[in-house]
Amino acid sequence: MNHQEIQQKYANHYIFNSRNKGSNKYLVGNVLVVALFINDEKSKFLQGWEEYVEKNIHKALRSLYKGARREYVNLNFQLATDSVTLPYACTRHNGSDWRKDALKPYGYTDTNQLREYYKKTYSVDEVAMLFVFHRDFTAFAGAASFANINRDEYAVIASSDKKGTIIHELLHLFGAVDLYLPQITETAAERYLPDSIMNGGNTIDSLSKYLVGWTNYISDNAVLFLEATKDITEDYYKKALNKRWEDHPDNL
Ligand SMILES: [Zn+2]
Repeated sequence: MNHQEIQQKYANHYIFNSRNKGSNKYLVGNVLVVALFINDEKSKFLQGWEEYVEKNIHKALRSLYKGARREYVNLNFQLATDSVTLPYACTRHNGSDWRKDALKPYGYTDTNQLREYYKKTYSVDEVAMLFVFHRDFTAFAGAASFANINRDEYAVIASSDKKGTIIHELLHLFGAVDLYLPQITETAAERYLPDSIMNGGNTIDSLSKYLVGWTNYISDNAVLFLEATKDITEDYYKKALNKRWEDHPDNL
């Protein structure tokens, strides 16, 4: 199969279809990463921790820069940081409230407004939004995929998160999809896309590279992966995802 045939065959595949969707399109060009440190009723950043997080973000960006270069992709990062204090506890469930409140001091009502401002003012191609909390929880991304293509995109990370987690979440914003669930996907990923950073590993697999816009083709093994997971629907994936969150109710 040539790539055009692959594109046609897997046009509706729940992962293959997530390329170039949402507010962050391709991880290419000049990308501004905005990291907003949030202090709330549950946790506040102690001295030195913002710098610690910044260092880990820089490590992640350096690694992505190198990865892109290996594919002859031009990718340059800038990092902007700031902190904000909210007078209540932020959770996963009131996320649409605190994301709005966190941006209020800047005069924005959502991350898309901030994104558009930075794109215009600093002529960057993409703006990736990271919210950071000084407590332990599993990092997550609100990323567009499937039918929900126009949603806003952002990632939420913990101050203890290291380079690998930050890379994983940033890749989500630009189209990469978790490969560790449902079970069929995890099994196929272990077989065909081993050591993928979207499945707990350390490398950016061929499919994820394609999804974030670093390549215009996928490897033969990535095609086999798509074939092995072609019957999984968006609903089935979402159910597995929701179950995972139910099993981890203490998040954020
Ligand atoms: Zn993930």
